[in-house]
Amino acid sequence: MIFLKSDRELNYLRDAGKIVAKTLAEIKKATKPDIATNELDRIAADFIKSCGAIPAFKGYHGFPGHICTSINEEVVHGIPGLRKLKSGDNLSIDIGTVINGYYGDAAITVAVGEVDAEIQKLLDVTEESLYKGIAQAITGNRLSDISHAIQSYAESFDYGVVRDFVGHGIGRSMHEDPQVPNYGSPGRGPKLKPGMTLAIEPMINLGTHEVRTLADGWTVVTADRKRSAHFEHTIAVTTDGPEILTKL
Ligand code: MG
Repeated sequence: MIFLKSDRELNYLRDAGKIVAKTLAEIKKATKPDIATNELDRIAADFIKSCGAIPAFKGYHGFPGHICTSINEEVVHGIPGLRKLKSGDNLSIDIGTVINGYYGDAAITVAVGEVDAEIQKLLDVTEESLYKGIAQAITGNRLSDISHAIQSYAESFDYGVVRDFVGHGIGRSMHEDPQVPNYGSPGRGPKLKPGMTLAIEPMINLGTHEVRTLADGWTVVTADRKRSAHFEHTIAVTTDGPEILTKL
């Protein structure tokens, strides 16, 4: 069941989204060669708490971190730890918060130091694919119009669009209906209506779209171990078009 949010609820979601956006900006600033991902995790946890919010990922189905940090061929759900970042790495930072019972969820992938042009292009195209998807989140469209816009843009660069993990509705829970795939034919699924709130999150690979989960039970990597990028925003469908709730 898809929950349509009232104006009052949208305000709570804006609060949660703003804290996510600010935290991502803080972690982006702190991301540089030689910092360990568990240090980024600590900075994020402290910052979120200083905003009066709760880090939403910690303990979610037992997830051990406050944020997800996924390096290079890691697609999503990387666990912060002792590994130090190196120049040339790309790091996906995925952050969720909850405040007043409402959730925000967003991710960015950042270049650490200097990355190869091939990697920077993957990051740029993945981010743009997110905006192509968001542009379709308008009243009267159907859900898969978002999916199709993401897939067709990313595949025009011969990248692999991850199938096994998808975006989601968000509100009083981090994951609500509907699922938001990053692939599919247009014109299918539920009609988009004002008050729908969605986390749209393309995961785009340099090579194959296929992924594997590592033995830690969390970290998702590309099957061919080529690099991957991930960008996410929480958005609301409104009568005035899509509103990005996790933007600064
Ligand atoms: Mg998400």
